[in-house]
Amino acid sequence: MKIHEYQARQLLTEAGIPVPSSSMVENVDDAAGAYETVVREAGLGDGGLAVVKAQVHAGGRGKAGFVKLVHSAGEATDAAQFMLSNRMVSVQTGPEGLEVKKLLVAAGVDIAKEFYLAITTDRATRRNVLIASAEGGVEIEQVAESNPDAIIKQPIDPLMGLQGFEAREVAFKLGFTGKQVGQAVKIMMALAALFVEKDCTLAEINPLIVTPPTTEAPDGQVMAIDAKFSFDDNALFRQRSIGGMFDPAEENANELRASKFGLTYIALDGNIGCLVNGAGLAMSTMDIIKHYGGEPANFLDVGGSASEEAVTEAFRIILDDKAVEGVLVNIFGGIMRCDVIAQAVVNAAKEVGFEVPLVVRLEGTNVEAGKRILEGAKADIPTMEAADDLDDAARRIVAAVKGEVAAS
Ligand code: GDP
Ligand code: MN
Repeated sequence: MKIHEYQARQLLTEAGIPVPSSSMVENVDDAAGAYETVVREAGLGDGGLAVVKAQVHAGGRGKAGFVKLVHSAGEATDAAQFMLSNRMVSVQTGPEGLEVKKLLVAAGVDIAKEFYLAITTDRATRRNVLIASAEGGVEIEQVAESNPDAIIKQPIDPLMGLQGFEAREVAFKLGFTGKQVGQAVKIMMALAALFVEKDCTLAEINPLIVTPPTTEAPDGQVMAIDAKFSFDDNALFRQRSIGGMFDPAEENANELRASKFGLTYIALDGNIGCLVNGAGLAMSTMDIIKHYGGEPANFLDVGGSASEEAVTEAFRIILDDKAVEGVLVNIFGGIMRCDVIAQAVVNAAKEVGFEVPLVVRLEGTNVEAGKRILEGAKADIPTMEAADDLDDAARRIVAAVKGEVAAS
């Protein structure tokens, strides 16, 4: 599960990591007031710097024009107007972009230098790892590719956690000096602790910044001005307050719809809808579709014991996807009974109709009953073909969406 930046800032603040004051708004009219508030809270005078930022579950906002520096309530309003009425297209969103429903208005800060700081799990070493770079900001992906030596990796001992001396070493490598070192160490330790405490899969600050020197703070101040968190869904049962931050508006509508029926649905880019039981079988079904030159439109796992109603909903979801040009049903009935699936096919055909080719492969519990149901409905579902096995099924559906007849 992901959260918004405004929620991430709240977690950072609670963990004692310095973040400029900010306010979340959901409509244009509130932007001016939010600007006045954050500028006042930050002790900035008239015309103080603030930043208006789109709150969506995708990065690359700066480059997409959805992070705007403003110097007045009027400019804040204009930025809000723009962001709330245009879809944000960034390198992370795909060409269709994302609708922006929430904005963050934050007090602006002067930046002397930007850094990257994150904690995640390194599967290779089976440890959490602190990742840091002095080349932070908006180009970190490129840095990782073109200049991997600029990325510092500090493995974290699972029992001891991040140690002070390790964090200090990283701070020195990043080039922090004077009072900045202690501030950076405190932030790293707090982020590492937060990562474990909240069952994160990613806790990222980008950029972590240092402000230019002032008379009160000759070494500047180290602080976070953007953060991104992801959490382990399987730990949400013990992370109630994190679970409460879930924003359904940011999720794929069909994935949500499926989860209400206990189905696991993931939208993909291809044109062959797949209805399968069991994640392993779903994976191999996708592999074999690709093997025969097709592209799956989704991954839909109805699980071991879905009801006829849930399976019918599964077909509705698949057939609602305009990209779907064919459907492959691949069921290995164990607890799931083949006759339940067959009946759901018939229901879905009655309700929405299969205008696209449908290939059904059933095997296992009650397979004969399932085949009889489909046989009896053949006249009503003219685009349906039965397949002998998975290989045959994949060849048939790939051929069908290409408008060919499968070689047998
Ligand atoms: P992202 O592009 O989605 O990662 O959004 P960020 O919040 O990281 O902002 C992108 C860039 O905008 C940052 O790397 C900064 O260079 C700039 N930026 C964001 N907030 C401020 C601010 O308060 N002051 C200044 N000077 N620049 C900012
Ligand atoms: Mn950022």
